[in-house]
Amino acid sequence: MSAVERNVERRSGHDVGFLLDHWEELIAKRGWKKTLIHNAGDWPVFAVENGPAEAGEVGGIYVSAGVHGDECAPPWALLEWAESHAKELGQFPFLIFPCLNPQGIAENTRVDGGGIDLNRNFQNAEIPIIAAWQNFLAKRKFRVAVNLHEDYDATGTYLYELARSHSIGHRLLSACEKWIARETVAEVDGSEFDNGLLCREVDENVLRQVVEEDLEGGWPEAIWLYLDHTEDSFTFETPSELELSRRIAAHREFLDEILIASSLR
Ligand SMILES: [Zn+2]
Repeated sequence: MSAVERNVERRSGHDVGFLLDHWEELIAKRGWKKTLIHNAGDWPVFAVENGPAEAGEVGGIYVSAGVHGDECAPPWALLEWAESHAKELGQFPFLIFPCLNPQGIAENTRVDGGGIDLNRNFQNAEIPIIAAWQNFLAKRKFRVAVNLHEDYDATGTYLYELARSHSIGHRLLSACEKWIARETVAEVDGSEFDNGLLCREVDENVLRQVVEEDLEGGWPEAIWLYLDHTEDSFTFETPSELELSRRIAAHREFLDEILIASSLR
């Protein structure tokens, strides 16, 4: 089924069963490795990777979507992107979590089935899904990590960049402008943004302090990944009140551009 045909058949952006069925098909077609890490209510949470990633090769890309269930464009964008990048996804290690909070997506709610905001709990191994995720990550190291999100207050795109190498944030946002313009407000959730970009090139101790003071000790996925598992880390956000197809297109564009800007293709 093409992406266009699927868009006709999809009941809504929250049709998570339909999403996961299409992932199963794609994984079988490409011969990728699927690992079930957790059952969230009726839904499986699984990792998808290629041979080099499974063998523990350093580098390549980590991508996750669906951490917040009221942000439904990213999981569809990630599926479409993976379907259309068979060649590239054979050239470097990749690890994808297609949907980390399927129950939230199904119910159109930010939190998981236990009422937890996972993206303020990636340090918390008392939460089964987080413990499973941490165990699966183990000692893996990536060139770049991408977390795809949305924001219902936003009117444009914006990006959190944690960069050890040089900053590519403005380049990434520019590439997505053909679908959605950048957020224009200077402050989002208490942080100062420069034309849609918050770039932090800081040492680990400063970052730990940011988590403790600004986020009350609740670790977002991107910061956890940055400290232990990736050279650079990105959290891309689209406005969740815009039309779904434009949001999907913007997330796909972001992933396309990051492969080029991070020299993965
Ligand atoms: Zn989010």
